Amino acid sequence: MSSSADAGREGRRPLSGLVPGAGSATGGHGGRTAQRSASRRRRAVHLSSLRLTTVGVDIGGTKVAAGAVDADGRVLEQLRTETPHKSKSPKVVEDTIVELVLDLADRHDVHAVGVGAAGWVDADRSRVLFAPHLNWRGEPLRQALSDRLRFPVVVENDANAAAWAEWRFGAGRGEDHLVMITLGTGIGGGVVREGLLERGKWGLAGEFGHMQVVAGGHRCPCGNRGCWEQYSSGNALVRDARELAAAESPVAEPLLDRVGGDVSAITGPLVTEAAREGDAVAVELLHDVGRWLGVGIANLAAALDPGRFVVGGGVSAAGDLLIEPARDAFRRTLTGRGFRPEAQIVLAELGGEAGLVGAADLARQVARRFRTVRRRRVERRGGA
Ligand SMILES: [Zn+2]
Repeated sequence: MSSSADAGREGRRPLSGLVPGAGSATGGHGGRTAQRSASRRRRAVHLSSLRLTTVGVDIGGTKVAAGAVDADGRVLEQLRTETPHKSKSPKVVEDTIVELVLDLADRHDVHAVGVGAAGWVDADRSRVLFAPHLNWRGEPLRQALSDRLRFPVVVENDANAAAWAEWRFGAGRGEDHLVMITLGTGIGGGVVREGLLERGKWGLAGEFGHMQVVAGGHRCPCGNRGCWEQYSSGNALVRDARELAAAESPVAEPLLDRVGGDVSAITGPLVTEAAREGDAVAVELLHDVGRWLGVGIANLAAALDPGRFVVGGGVSAAGDLLIEPARDAFRRTLTGRGFRPEAQIVLAELGGEAGLVGAADLARQVARRFRTVRRRRVERRGGA
């Protein structure tokens, strides 16, 4: 669907490429005469501004992905690079983002940039309050990036961006009360209600992974015990699989054979692959994760009453091996069952690109406003 290219290339970008819209019908940095002569053309472009291309950036724990995305959510080109180590300064992460965006802007007519970050983003979508994988603490990311890029920039929590993408282009289309659960190493969440992302008062809504589901349960990096993501996530799957293998249980022998007896080599994708090939214990491990998924979703239904839950993230690659046990547990746990309509639980459709596509689409809204303001200013000058 999308091409990936090595993002480590340097030194082949002329400075003129940094100017938004340079070399296109949208350039706004010429003299007044040039602006006047271009105003009609600009107005025509504005009428079709729904079709603007924007860049989405997804900053994860290991990879930074950036893509030029069109108005239909198609990724026209994607670049990836490694996430700078946690010890690096915020500036290094900014450098990484700026380099990827400018590289794409060389080949695509970019109008705005959306950044989806794993972390807490404030309600103004301006600062990253905290990021688990990066040295961001109250970081004014939007300002820092827009100063350097000269594009309008929005910053959004990565799970919110993914939820938005599924609602716009994926498994959430047509449902105006949507909850997305992203099962990665932990759990990310997003709520879209009547066409708006529900961010909460402080921007921190949707942190479902840290709802307590087991009193005194597994310790969580958040400091508490028994959080949902300790039972239903990639990390939970790997922890349980390794625990079983390390206990030298005979039922785990086929799983151990796959990794030559090295318990630490057992990964989530390996368990999923084993389950698909019929390994009974791998099926059971995914079943446990799915069952906890269904229990948590039933809790969310009690709180939010959406029409549909979309389940994405790396673990969702297990498909029905995960979703069927989740649906069963949901039906058995849902409060008021038998006396209320049941929400659908479906798999996400956009895969690993959801965060990037969602961030790009959220940026498109800002790009539109930005261009409208600029157009009005030009019209006023032209009419004088
Ligand atoms: Zn927690």
